[in-house]
This record gives sequence, structure tokens and C-alpha cells, in this order.
Amino acid sequence: MTTSRPGLTGSPLDRADHLRGNDAAIAELQSSLSARLLMLDGLDPQLDEYGGLRWGSLAEAPVDAELAFLGFIEERPRFAALTRVPHGGRRSPAIFHLLETLPPGEAGTYAAARSLVDWHSRHLFCAHCGNETRTMRAGWARICDASAGGCGHEHFPRTDPVVIMLAEHRGRVLVGRQPGFPPGFYSALAGFVELGDSIEEAVARELKEEAGVEAVSVRYVASQPWPFPSSLMIACTAEVASDAIRIDTTELEHAMWVTRDEVAAALAGDLAAPFLAPPPYAIAYTLFERWLGS
Ligand SMILES: [Zn+2]
Repeated sequence: MTTSRPGLTGSPLDRADHLRGNDAAIAELQSSLSARLLMLDGLDPQLDEYGGLRWGSLAEAPVDAELAFLGFIEERPRFAALTRVPHGGRRSPAIFHLLETLPPGEAGTYAAARSLVDWHSRHLFCAHCGNETRTMRAGWARICDASAGGCGHEHFPRTDPVVIMLAEHRGRVLVGRQPGFPPGFYSALAGFVELGDSIEEAVARELKEEAGVEAVSVRYVASQPWPFPSSLMIACTAEVASDAIRIDTTELEHAMWVTRDEVAAALAGDLAAPFLAPPPYAIAYTLFERWLGS
């Protein structure tokens, strides 16, 4: 079977990193008539009449907002306004519907911009000395300015790695549901990579903690950015020694082993499937799809 590209990947953005430190070049791009501004509503994307991302002119940016240079798409410089984000960057009820409808690739551009705008809004002060920070590198860093009484430390946007994995045992995989999931919905197990973990160790540790299963081998499958607020989802499969499970009820409400036919039925949206599968833009969908194809 053919498998799809992970959701939120495939952005056409040329990030042009070599220009970020060149203030004169960035100023010239900002004054270019071809410059475009990604239109956001808080952190949600605004859509154009075709259902894609809406791009406006730089004049549409709030008057007091700085601009981050995202890069080039179709040779036109693209910017995002660094506005203060309401509600601490929490996800809006509409965002997942918007992710389902955005064309492939555009969701990837949006993911990068969303995480960047959100990061600036949450890093106005230096974590070392508490002074105010200011933007640098065309919006891809902040500095605690020594000339303004700060400590001189530079801060860069972070990506938080998360492992998401299917435990596999004799042709079946383990799916689980968290208490907050919609009724009937199950997914792969997941957890943050901790300090000192390798990817393989994080997968084994999370499977042990959440489901009480022992990983004997771990295989990387795919990854995707997940901009809520700034994760990198690393999808793996892990062969486990036994199908006996003991779930951590603070993390999971229920877990169960499912067959290939059952996973295929869930991905197809079959009403007789034993669970509701994640949507195609989620890496868990890709993980199920690749497992079926393996
Ligand atoms: Zn500082």
C-alpha cells in the first residue's frame, strides 16, 4: 500500500537562514511590494477563499508589532507579526478542524509560524536574569541586551521532543486512550523525551511506565512538528516481550491490543472498527498506516 507524508510537513518555505543576521537585507525585504504577511487570528490561521492560508500586505500588521521573517515562498518574502498571544497560547476549539482542511504543506508553514509567534510571546523576559529581551536574527532569536542592563544571553526557539509509539507483539499493536479523549478514540502511546533519554530509551521508558510492557527493540518510523506549542513528534514501533499489560491509570483510561484488520478498519472510518483512529494530520495516523504497510 502507499503511505502518506506525515501531517504538518512538506512546507514550501525556503527559510533563507543566511539572511536572518543581515538587518539591511531584512529591511529591504520588508519594504518590498512583494512581501506578504501571514494572517492569523490570535494563533489560528485565517483562510483565503480557496481554504488555504491567507496572506495579506505588511500594512495589515498591527502598528506596534515586530515582524519575523519566515522565509520565501514562490520567491516572495513571507513575514509573521509577533503579537502578544491571548490565553497563554492555548489551542482554540476551531484549530483541529482548520488543520483538517488546510492543504498539505500549508499546514507545515502554519506550524512553524504558530510556534514562532507563540514562543516570542512567552519569552519577553530573560530566564537567566529577568531583564526584558528583544528580538534579533529577523525574529528567530531574542537577546537579553547587555547595553540595556541585561546579561547578554541569547535565547533561541526550542523544540520539545515527544516519542509516540506502537508496542507490537505477534502481529498486534497496543492502543490506549487518555481520560480526555473523545468517546471511542484510541491512539498510540506517547510521552515527552526526558533529559538524558535517547529516543530508544524514551520509547522503552514510556511503554514501561504507561503500560508495563518491556521493549526489546525500537525502530524509528517518521516525525512531524506539532505546534502546541512547539513539539517534535518522533514516531516509533517497539517490539515487546509479552502482551501482558499493567496500565498507569493516571495516564491512561484503557489500553488494548488490536490486529491489522482492526487498525485498517479504524483508519478507513469503518463504523464496526473497535476504535476511532486519529485524523490524517496526526503522526499517529502515519504510524498506523506505516505499520499496516510493513
Ligand atoms: Zn539576561
